Amino acid sequence: MKDTMYCSQEQSIPRCLKQGGATRTIKAMSTQEELPLKEVRSLIETLSQYQRAYYVDSRPLVSDSEYDRLFDRLSSLEAQYPSLRFPDSPTQRVGSDLDASFPEVKHTIPVLSLDKAYSAEELLTWIERTENKVSRDLGIVIEEKIDGISIVLYYEDGLLVRGVTRGNGLIGNDVTANVKTIASIPLRLPEPATLAVRGEVYLPKESFAALNETMETPYANPRNLAAGTIRRIKSSEVAKVPLQIFVYEGFWEEQGQYTDHLSILSKLASYGFTINENLAYFASDEAKAKEQLKKAKLKGYAASFDSIASYIEDHTQKRSSLGYEIDGMVAKVNEVRVREQLGYTEHHPRWALAYKFESPQAQTVLLSIDLQVGRTGRVTPVARVKPVQVAGSTISNITLHNQDYINMLELGIGDVVEISRRGDVIPAVERVIEKNEQSGGVYQMDRSCPVCKTALIDKGAHTFCPNVQCPAQVQGRIEFFIGKDGLDIENFGPETAATLIELGVLHDTPDIYLIDYRKILADVPGFGEKKIRLIEEGVEKSKDCSFKQVLVSLGIPELGKKGAQILLSAGFDSMEKLLTLSDHDDVASLIAIKQIGEKSARLYIDALNDPEMRERIEKLKQIGLAMEEKGLEISSDQSFSGQVWCVTGSFEHFNPRSAAMDEVEKRGGRTVSSITGKTTHLLAGAGGGSKLQKAKELGIVIVDEKTFLSLLGEQEKKEERQGEFSF
Ligand code: NAD
Repeated sequence: MKDTMYCSQEQSIPRCLKQGGATRTIKAMSTQEELPLKEVRSLIETLSQYQRAYYVDSRPLVSDSEYDRLFDRLSSLEAQYPSLRFPDSPTQRVGSDLDASFPEVKHTIPVLSLDKAYSAEELLTWIERTENKVSRDLGIVIEEKIDGISIVLYYEDGLLVRGVTRGNGLIGNDVTANVKTIASIPLRLPEPATLAVRGEVYLPKESFAALNETMETPYANPRNLAAGTIRRIKSSEVAKVPLQIFVYEGFWEEQGQYTDHLSILSKLASYGFTINENLAYFASDEAKAKEQLKKAKLKGYAASFDSIASYIEDHTQKRSSLGYEIDGMVAKVNEVRVREQLGYTEHHPRWALAYKFESPQAQTVLLSIDLQVGRTGRVTPVARVKPVQVAGSTISNITLHNQDYINMLELGIGDVVEISRRGDVIPAVERVIEKNEQSGGVYQMDRSCPVCKTALIDKGAHTFCPNVQCPAQVQGRIEFFIGKDGLDIENFGPETAATLIELGVLHDTPDIYLIDYRKILADVPGFGEKKIRLIEEGVEKSKDCSFKQVLVSLGIPELGKKGAQILLSAGFDSMEKLLTLSDHDDVASLIAIKQIGEKSARLYIDALNDPEMRERIEKLKQIGLAMEEKGLEISSDQSFSGQVWCVTGSFEHFNPRSAAMDEVEKRGGRTVSSITGKTTHLLAGAGGGSKLQKAKELGIVIVDEKTFLSLLGEQEKKEERQGEFSF
C-alpha cells in the first residue's frame, strides 16, 4: 500500500477522509496557516453527516472506530487550537437523534454522552485524577456499556408519563407509546415517586439474528435495529420486536434521598426495573467494597482498585458470551455529592468515563466479487479478499448484501479495504482505504444470472434470478430441505443431492421419496451397498417428521422454526388452514398474530399461492409427510407404557404413519426412529425394508397393521366399558 495519499482537486474532502487519508491529504493541499481551519471544518461536516446516518437513519455510513478516529482527531485539533472550537462541533454537544416524526420534549435532567478511554491505564489515571480533584477516596462502580439506545423514562407520582429519546441532550423525542411496549418497564411504581430514570433499550443478540434474517436490508448490529424500531411510527410494529431495557441512573425530584449510585440502583430494582447485575464496585479497600455492595443488596463483584485492570480484562473476554452487545464499560463515581461537585461539560458528565473496546479490524485487498444464487433466487454479491486474520479467524469471504451496499462503499476490484468482524462475529467490509486506479470504478453486478443466464430482476434493495428452475435454486431448495433447518435427513448430504441432480433424477424435493436409489446409484463410484441402504433409511425416517418441520423445510422466505412455531401456536396447525388463508389472500389474519409483520405475512401468502409450491405440497402430502400438527391427548389407559416402538413400511389406516406412533405415545409408549437393542416393538406395514430385517435379527416383536388396530381397539373398547360404568 502506498504511504501517502493525495486528493485530486475534484475529489471532495469528506470523500478523502472516508478513504482514511485525512491529515496527510489536506496537509499536502494547504498552506500551513489555513491547514487547521480547513481540516476542522471538514471534520465537523463529515462527522455531522455520519451522526445523522447513525442516530436518525440507524444506518451508519462508517464503522464506530472510524467515527471515533475522526472524532478524536477533531478533539485533539481543538485542544491544540482553542480558537477553532466551534459551537457546532460534535465535540461540543451530544450527537442528536432528533427525528421530525415525533413530538419534541424538553429534558429536565442532563442527558449527555460519555467521555472515553481506550485502555485500563487511561481509566486508572482518570480515577486518580478525579480523586485528586476532590481530595478524597472514592468508590467507583463499573457497569457494562450496553450497546443500545438511550432512553429517559419520566414518572410522576409513580406513573410513567413519558418515554423520551436522548435527542440532542436538551430536547428529545417523545416515544412513550413505543416505550410502553417494552414489558419490563413498569407503568406504575410501587410508590408515588416523581423521578427520571435513564436506561439503555437493546435487542438481545438471538432476537437480532432471527429478526435480521427477515430484513430486506439487514442491519449491521442489534443497536441499529433497536434504534430503528424505537422510532417506528406504529407502536404495534414496535411490539413485534422483543426490545429489552437495563436502567442505570435515577434522578428523584426530591433531591438528597439517595447518597450513592449503589443505593440508587438498589432502589430502582425494588421498583421493578431491570438493572444489569454484571456490575463491579471498587474502593480503596476490598472489605469496604464488599460490605457496601452487600449493604445495597446488589449482586456483583467487589474488590480494591488493584483489581480494576484485571476485572476489565476478564470482562472483555466474557463479552462474546453475553446475550446482548456491549461496546465497553462505564466507570462512575459512586458518591452523589462528589458527582454534583464535579459537574458536567456540554458533552459528558465529569464523574463518569467509558472504556471503549477496540473493534477488531484488519486491512486486505478485494480480489474479486462473486455472485451467489440462493434457494429463493436472491443473488448476493460475495467479496473474495486476500485471506487475513481478524480477531482470531481467517477471513476470505465477506457478504456485500446488494448493489446499494457496494455503491455506498464505492468498492472496486483491487481496492485496499478495511474489514472488521461486527459484534466480533460477522465479517464486514468497512471502507476503502486505497482505491485501485485500474479497477474501472465501482463494481457493478452483472444483469444476468451467473448460473442459468436468465435476466435478473430487482425487488426492493435486492436482485433476484426469476427462473425457479435455475439449477442453483433447485440445489439450494433441496439442500435446505434435507439439511439441519429442514427435515435433517440422515445420511443424505449435499454431495448426494448434487450427484442425483447431475444424474438428472432429482428435480425437486418430492423426487427424494420417489427415486429408486438402488437402481440409480448402483454403478456410481462412492456409493456402496451400505451407503445406499443408509440413504434409503434416512429418507424413510424423514417421513416421520412433524408438520412443523415439514412446513419449515418448504423454504418459504422468512419462515424458519420460530416463524412456524408462531403460526402453530396461533392455531394455523395444518397445511389446509394455511392454504385456505392464502386462497383468500388473507394477509390480515397473519398480521393479527403478534410477532408476524406485514412483510413476512405477504411473503408467506405469496409463497403458498405459488403454483409450483402448491404442486410440491400436494406431492409431499401424497408421499405421506405430515400436513397437520397433532397435539397428543393422553389416554387414560397407559398399556403401552414401558414399550419402545418403531415403524416401517406404509399403512392403510395411518397416513402419515407418524399417526400410528402418536397412538403409541398417547398410551404411554415411547417411539424411536431407528431400531436399537432397546426397541421392543416394530409396527411393520407394507414394504417394510431394512428395519424389518433388523427387528427379526434382534428378536423384536413385529406387529402388523391389523394386530396394531386390534390392540388400539381393545383399549378403546375398554375405555368405552369404563365410561359406561362410571355414569
Ligand atoms: P457513547 O458511546 O459516547 O456512550 C454514551 C452512551 O452510552 C450514553 O448516552 C448511554 O446511552 C450509553 N450507555 C450504555 N450503557 C451505559 C451505562 N451503564 N451507563 C451510562 N451510559 C450507558 O454514545 P454516544 O454519545 O451516543 O455516541 C458516540 C458513539 O457512537 C461514538 O463513539 C461512536 O462509537 C458511535 N457513533 C458512530 C457513528 C458511525 O457513523 N458509526 C456515528 C455517531 C456515533
